[in-house]
Amino acid sequence: MIASDLQSGVEQLGDMIAQAASIVPFTGAGISTECGIPDFRSPGGLWTRNRPIPFDEFVASSEARDESWRRRFAMEPTFAAARPGRGHRALAALYKAGKIPAIVTQNIDNLHQVSGFAADHVVELHGNTTYARCLGCGKSYPLAWVRHGFEATGSAPDCTVCDEPVKTATISFGQAMPEEAMQRAAELARQCDLFLAIGSSLVVWPAAGFPLMAKNAGARLVIINNEPTEQDDVADLVIRHDIGETLGPFVGN
Ligand SMILES: [Zn+2]
Repeated sequence: MIASDLQSGVEQLGDMIAQAASIVPFTGAGISTECGIPDFRSPGGLWTRNRPIPFDEFVASSEARDESWRRRFAMEPTFAAARPGRGHRALAALYKAGKIPAIVTQNIDNLHQVSGFAADHVVELHGNTTYARCLGCGKSYPLAWVRHGFEATGSAPDCTVCDEPVKTATISFGQAMPEEAMQRAAELARQCDLFLAIGSSLVVWPAAGFPLMAKNAGARLVIINNEPTEQDDVADLVIRHDIGETLGPFVGN
């Protein structure tokens, strides 16, 4: 059912949180917009103005790699300045209280880790843009290393170990979903008794399948999103309000 107003939504959510033993949050872009990180997929968002570079193009073309890195460096002031919002902090408080075993996210901004989640307890379906990784051997590199090489030679550097291209540790269009993360997310969804879908339009599959997976395994499903989603009909509670305002009251938990 859809909460009639913000206050009743927050009250019902509070009751469900109090009754739950194991809560799994699933977060999308909406939780990070108040942190200044744009929703790339939204109308007018970056991806509607700038065609995303598909994975095979990145691998095949050094020009595509250079363009991809130029775009990433242009975004760095935004990512570097972003701090956890009220939604991140509320979830971190529930995590510290032992209510949340791990969190599943579509976001690449690292803000759940910054808010207090152990990196092991953040299941990233689309990877992480705050560091880079070699596509060949998997070696991690700081972004600053890539940038230094780029600025010194005018081109993105390859891995020092195996010479393969280095890319942000994100999942690009056309790149295979990370199998281990998908499996962990499915297990978490099936084992929780409260699943919170937060700030995701729930349209990107297969990630959008997790709320239904949780519901079918017997969990309660809450959807918090400014806009309607395709799964509102099956949710036990829908809160169609700002995420910071909805989760703000839980920051101090
Ligand atoms: Zn390598």
